This record gives sequence, structure tokens and C-alpha cells, in this order.
Amino acid sequence: MTTKNTFTTKSSNITVPLPLFIPVYRPDYSFELFSEDSRKYGLSAVMVNAFLLFRERRLKAAFEQGHTLRNHIGGFDGMLCTDSGAFQQLSGRKVGVDPLEIVKFQNMIKTDIAAPLDLITPPDTGFDETRRRMIISQYRIAEALEVCDYSDLAGIQQGGGFFSLRQKHIRQLAGIGIKYYGIGSMVPFFNKNHDLSFTCGVIRDARSVIGEGAPMHVYGAGDPLDIAFMFFAGANIFDSSSYAHYAQRGYYMTPYGAVNKRSACERLGFECACPVCRDNEPAGIFDIIPGEPLRKLHNLFLILETVRALGEFSGNTRIEEYVSVVYDRHIENIDLFPGSMLASSWEKYLKGDKSDKEAETGKAMRFIDPDTEGGGDDFCCFGQFRDKTGIPSIEKPSLPHLKGLDADNCGREPKTIELSEIEQEAIEVLAAESAVVYKMDRSVIAALLAEELTAPKNTRFRSRINGAESIKEAQRLSEYKTFRKNMRAVLYQKLRQYKEPDLSANELLAGFVECAGSDIASTVDSLLRTHVSTRERMPDREEFARTVHGFIKPGDAVIDVGCGFAPLLWPAGFFENLSCYIAVDKDAEATETVRVFAKKCGITNLKAFTWDINSGLPELNRLTGIDRYDIALMLKLIPVVSRADQASGGAAGATSILGDFPAARLLATVNRESMTKRESIEKRELSVLKQFIRAFDFSIEAGFSGGSETGYCIVKKLTQQSNIW
Ligand SMILES: [Zn+2]
Repeated sequence: MTTKNTFTTKSSNITVPLPLFIPVYRPDYSFELFSEDSRKYGLSAVMVNAFLLFRERRLKAAFEQGHTLRNHIGGFDGMLCTDSGAFQQLSGRKVGVDPLEIVKFQNMIKTDIAAPLDLITPPDTGFDETRRRMIISQYRIAEALEVCDYSDLAGIQQGGGFFSLRQKHIRQLAGIGIKYYGIGSMVPFFNKNHDLSFTCGVIRDARSVIGEGAPMHVYGAGDPLDIAFMFFAGANIFDSSSYAHYAQRGYYMTPYGAVNKRSACERLGFECACPVCRDNEPAGIFDIIPGEPLRKLHNLFLILETVRALGEFSGNTRIEEYVSVVYDRHIENIDLFPGSMLASSWEKYLKGDKSDKEAETGKAMRFIDPDTEGGGDDFCCFGQFRDKTGIPSIEKPSLPHLKGLDADNCGREPKTIELSEIEQEAIEVLAAESAVVYKMDRSVIAALLAEELTAPKNTRFRSRINGAESIKEAQRLSEYKTFRKNMRAVLYQKLRQYKEPDLSANELLAGFVECAGSDIASTVDSLLRTHVSTRERMPDREEFARTVHGFIKPGDAVIDVGCGFAPLLWPAGFFENLSCYIAVDKDAEATETVRVFAKKCGITNLKAFTWDINSGLPELNRLTGIDRYDIALMLKLIPVVSRADQASGGAAGATSILGDFPAARLLATVNRESMTKRESIEKRELSVLKQFIRAFDFSIEAGFSGGSETGYCIVKKLTQQSNIW
């Protein structure tokens, strides 16, 4: 199918030629990127990682004052694309970026093409999880579309290795008015091994849906060989930092595949006419292969030139000729490209194969290794799929037999833990012991213990207990006692993470996005039951809600600080007659869930924002547009924040923000029972709260007691009124 040969952005009416290659921008490489030669070779767009700018507070403030992305990168007048940093968001840490905020940010800094915070799908992801990621991504894209008034939003297709999901998603995207299409999470399917059948099949299908006018961007495609085949299949925009990381690894790109030896280049008979290779005459290209900076530049020029040439072939049979020349040259010299699957995969593509890319694990389908190929965070925004270490595995660990466990869920290769009989016995005993103390399932504890046991530091312990005659004898060993002691710290830490390791947050959110009508209530229920901190409130849910509600007056502007999933606990009438209910949490997963809840239930005065207390009140104000509240709910919050302050060196930064919070009254509660241990902590927690009340000159207006929580409704002492705000 022929495609259009230009694309005009809605933002500033920049027109770029199609097909188009968008190199990833690196500050240390901007001079070369924006050189006259690059422009001559058709550089007309760059890709910038917006997340890296977003997380730099000072820079973010400058952007809020009117600094723009274009100024920031030196006034480049081409098309600016940004990436949302989806992979950083998935690094497994709880402090994530808010999917809506990162899009608003891109729109604010005036990028031409903004990216949603879609959920990347690693290639070994199963069907159900892939489907959930697609549902959540689609929801986020639809939400993002509403806030992009300057930028075009890239509607990025997900669907992993499942053709049917890919088909479904591209049709959904077409249905919501996307103007700029992206193909996401595709790199592992073609990277380096030229396994193009699935990717090109997906591209062909997408093109048949979106029509010939629309731009279609394959995120992360940067090998000139792959680009030619993908263009042939129907894609017309490509971005990558391949030019740099190929060069780093010693590779010199040719249209027929990248090589790292002079002899290989000679065999292919490729003579490059780019300024780098030309200026290095008479020694020619072969002398520049060992030099990384020049190799990098050559690679960039070659990709740009390939894309320019493809544009000339567009719409006539010469594109077929071009592709077949590339194909033949590659295949004739296939020994230069070990692992290449071009022949078999292209044959499959031409046959119209629409089979799924089976969820394979292992080397052939692996993600790009950031150490060897992608560099660090500052290196680039390598599209949708760079960070092998940053993708949490969300499949449930198979607990009972301790195999394939990946308790840290940090996306490492799942480890198979093989334990001897005595090791298993020791783990069972320790798990049973700990389950009495900690609020955690025994099998979960056992799985965590097994992983801990196999850590290198426990090698000696393992050999000692394996030398023991019985479990009794093992238990007498000093190493056993040390392990037992250290284990507590590990378990405590795990429990502090608030969520049990056997949940899939995506499962909940996707279920929520999908539910409708009468399902909403039951989905909310199951959602709440899975959240440790919220679940404690479930048995007394109604009483608890009534008690909290008793402190709120009609017309109040309410803020729920550290909301978690609490807003979902409140019954339907709770929000009625309130001027607003602002829910804030540093956990973007929680705030997004609250937002989905509000939308599903049609509660228009419930708004949720991702806010970290440490980022301060001006930031809160910026997010909400509200500067004063009638009541601030700080449910189970103050002791947690106070301890976090202490842990970070004693400065009461966050605590004092709560102490001077712009609200007439605070409803502050603490837990009666430990969240992690089965013991009462009421006295200790209340004393922290009372200390807070004294330190910030509050007086107690009323006591609070509801469910598993206790606390006070507090107001600033009258003499201090002038300091409240
Ligand atoms: Zn060259």
C-alpha cells in the first residue's frame, strides 16, 4: 500500500517528510545531531525523553515558567517527539509517575508528538496479562487524548506477541480519533535477528485499518535493513538510538545488515558516500570502522539516507526491487550475520502468516540489555522496550513448590530454586513460625525465604545445614540462628511494601477499566479486598465510612492525603454535597485507580492526583488549583510520614508540611494493630500522633474511633491562627 509522503503536526504546523527516521536526542551528542550534514541528510525530527526532564525539579519549574522543549534543545526547528519513560515507571518502585501528569507535562513543554504512559509488554508475557496491559494502555491513551491540546498524541498499539490483540487494539485506537499511530513493544521481536514476520504482519494489518494517510511509527526500529522491510509492510516513521549503540559495540551499519569487520564490509561491496566515509578517503570506510565517534555519525547518516531513498521509491515498484536487493545481498552473505532469521521470517510474512509470536523466553527474544546496548538512563529514551531490569514480572509466583519464583518481581529471569530436603524442611519451619508473627501467608513467606536462602551470602549456611543430620541439629547451628534473625528484616521490608506479592495491580485496574453497570460494586469490592491496608477496613467498612463522614459537613472541600484506595470504600452518597474531594497519594497506581473509580461511578467532584508530600504544598496547589481545604483526612498517615522523616536523617520535612497543611481541620488516625505483625501498636502510634499535635500547636476537637483505627479530629490552636496559612 502506498502511504502519504508528508505529515504535518497539529502543534506548530511543522511538516516532515515521510518516511522519517527520528534519532534519539542526547545532550552530549546534539552538536553532531544538529550539524549541517545531518540536516542535509534529512534530519527533521528528534526524540527526547520527557521523563528525564519531568523528574528534574528545577527544570520542571523552568518549563512551568514558559521554557519550552524547543528552547531546551537549542532551538532545533524540526519535529519534536517525546517519550514518557514508560520503562522507568516500571522499575518496580512504588513512587511512579502519574500517567496523566506526564502527558500534561509533554503538552506543556510543547512537544509536537507526545507519548502516553503505556504499559510495555515483554515478549514472554502470557495472553491474559498482555490483554490487561493493552486495556490499561488504551484507557490511558483515551485519557491522555483529552489533555493534549497542543501536541499530537501517539496512540501506541500494544498487544505483545498476540496477533489478535494487536488487531483489536489498532481498531480501538482508530475508533477514538488518533491521528498519529505507534507500534509499541515490538523491538524484542525483530531486534538484531531480523525476525520480521510478526512485526511486519502487524504493520500490514495496522495499515489496512488506519488507511494510507496516517503516520505509523514503529518505536525502536533503527536498523536500516529492518526499516526497509517495515516500510515495505506499511510503517513510515522509525526512531532509535541504534546509530549510537551499534557504534559503541563496534558495528558499522550497511543497508544489508551491520558488520564489525572490514572484510565483511568488503564482501558486501558496500561503499558509503556519507561525509564521514567520503572525508576519510583515500583510506575509505575501512579505516573508520575502529573509531566509535565517526562510526556513530556514519550510522546516523546511513539510516537517514536509507529512509530518504525509501521515500523516493514510495508508491512504485522500485520499493520491491530495493527490498529484494537488500534481501539477496543479506542472504548471499548470511554467514556475516549469525542468528539472522530474515529468510525464514520474510517467507512467513509473504505467506500472510498471522500466527501469534509465541511467548518464548530466552536469548532469541530477549530484551535489549541496557549495559551493552542502551547505556544508562541518560543515554536515551529507547522507545518502549529498553530496560530489561526495569520490567517487573507480574505473573504470580508459583509458590507451593518454590519453582520459578521471582519474589522481587524486578523482571529478572525467573530463577528456579532447587532446595535440598533439609533446606525445604528448615524453610517450612521458619515460615510457619513467621506466619504467626507476620500478617502474611505462609506459602508467601516460604517463597521469600527460599529466595533469600539462595543468596550468595547464605552459601555457608546452606552447606552447614546440609551437613546436619536432622532439622533439630540444623536448628542448633549459629548460622541457622543468624539466618532466622536476618530473615525477620527481610520479611518486614516486604510487608512494608503494602501489597502482597501475589497480586497483580494490572489485573485489578484492567478489570476496573472494563467493568460496567452493576459490576462496578463487585469489582470495587474485590479490589479493596486485595489491598492490605484497605482490607483491614473491610469488616467494618460501613461503620468506618459513617464515622469518617460524621466529621465532614455539607459543602466542605475535603482532601484525602495518602488516600490509597480509601475513596473506594465510601458508599455512593458519601461525595454528594461536597464542594470537592481531592485524593492524593504518591503511589500513581492508587491515584489512577481512584480516577478510574470516579469516572466509572460518575463522581465528578472526586479528583485524584499523584503527589509526594516531599514535593511540597506549591506543587499540590499547582496540581489541584485549590489552596485551602475545610478538612484534611490523614488516615493512618502521620506516624508513617514521621518515621520516614526520621529514617531520612531526622529533618521533619514532610511531617512539617502536614503540620502546616492548609486545612481548617485534620482528621488524623492511626492503626490499632500492626499492619505487618499480629500485635497491638495503638499506644505507640497514638504517642507519635500526640507528639505531632503538640509540635504543631493543634488542639483536639474530638476523638475518632472506627474499625481498626483510632485518632483525633484536630484544629490549630486559636493563638496560632495567623500561622495556619
Ligand atoms: Zn558512511
